[in-house]
Amino acid sequence: MKTFVHCGRLFTGGEDEAETKQTLVFDEAGIIEYVGAEAAAPQRARHDRLLDYAALFVMPGLIDVHTHLAYGNAKSEEDIDLYSPLEFRALRGLFFAQKCVAAGFTALCSPGDAGRISLSIRNAIRAGLFDGPRVMAAGPYVTTHQGLTDWYPTWIGAPETSIGKLVTTTAEAIEEIRRQVKDGVDCIKVALDGIQRRDNGELVAAFNQEETEAMVRESHRLGKKVVVHARGREATLYAARSGVDLIFHANHLDDECIAAMLETGSALCPTLTQPKNVIEFTQPHEPAGQKGRPAAARREYDIGCANWKKARAAGIPMMTGTDTGFAVTPYGEWNARELELFVDDLGFTPAAALRAATEVNARFMTGGDQIGRLEPGRFADFLALDFSPLDNIGWLQDKSRIRAVHIAGKPVSIPERGYDPRQVTDFALSNWTELYTRARVAELRGEAPRLAAE
Ligand SMILES: [Zn+2]
Repeated sequence: MKTFVHCGRLFTGGEDEAETKQTLVFDEAGIIEYVGAEAAAPQRARHDRLLDYAALFVMPGLIDVHTHLAYGNAKSEEDIDLYSPLEFRALRGLFFAQKCVAAGFTALCSPGDAGRISLSIRNAIRAGLFDGPRVMAAGPYVTTHQGLTDWYPTWIGAPETSIGKLVTTTAEAIEEIRRQVKDGVDCIKVALDGIQRRDNGELVAAFNQEETEAMVRESHRLGKKVVVHARGREATLYAARSGVDLIFHANHLDDECIAAMLETGSALCPTLTQPKNVIEFTQPHEPAGQKGRPAAARREYDIGCANWKKARAAGIPMMTGTDTGFAVTPYGEWNARELELFVDDLGFTPAAALRAATEVNARFMTGGDQIGRLEPGRFADFLALDFSPLDNIGWLQDKSRIRAVHIAGKPVSIPERGYDPRQVTDFALSNWTELYTRARVAELRGEAPRLAAE
């Protein structure tokens, strides 16, 4: 039995236009057999199924290459690393992966994990136990004392349940990579810088050039891609020279970085949504507001936009990813915002943004040659929308306008389900954000503080 889909408009991901009166045909395994004009489509046999999406816009399922399934909509780093058992985080991650499907994301890369959460979610979905997106899983970030995820003082270190694995030598890094590959990860995540700066303000790379090359060489030898967190110029340059497959952020990339990326083929995922949401959503009373995070994020964002536009103009593949999994980027809520920001802040056309989130992203994904485009031989992972995102890219964030999501041909329907977020995340032990001195208490009570001299 085959399935015929009548599409009002069809965007295949292979070109910038959407064609009208198109037909998509896929087989029982969900593999596409035909894409093209309704008039030229193969004959439909009596037992074949027909999906009438003649009033809808059909496009490939969206892909987010930067969604952290292990984070649980965290409000703090401690929240990510400490307070809930790995087993609970895996169940929670599966629930949230489904939220992303409901938002039109049929494939995710989960780059940076604790334990084996993301690969377990991937396997459970792949085995048919649950509905969910295709997941490309990394293990814990490989990091050093200068890298992201080594948050805590040296006398505490990175706990076993953290999203980072602290290594002290190249040999340890290689051992960690080999262990993760044996466990079944799809890619290796390296924290190539973090928050430490030199006196001149420059972000310090967490590994040197040689160490970076050794990790990338070993990952590639084992057949795995490498994705890195690199905000600063130095880390971006080391990543680019080493042939890292995908670089996150790279706010401070320069011409030397661009030249190296072009030479080795590194792609870029600038990740606009998380900082944009920090800038726009953070309330003044929140710790992030008190610490001046929104203003700092704004400065980094503006620097980044100027540099990312240069990278794009130079021909570097630009991928969409959101850093979903924080309190400012809850699962399935803002994943599609990245496309709108690609249009508004990086000058993409809506068609180019759609292609970034589909066929360009697929180039990084495991099994990417089978997803990302609607063409014969690939999986029928597609969405049916009641509007054209070519006319309004922002509407992709409105889940009520997504009329159907199909993965390998199968319709996936995730019912809306309420839950108590306080039992899911935010188990931090902090209780107060104020300091209750006598003066402050008097102020709160509307009294003038009594002075000792009186
Ligand atoms: Zn991230």
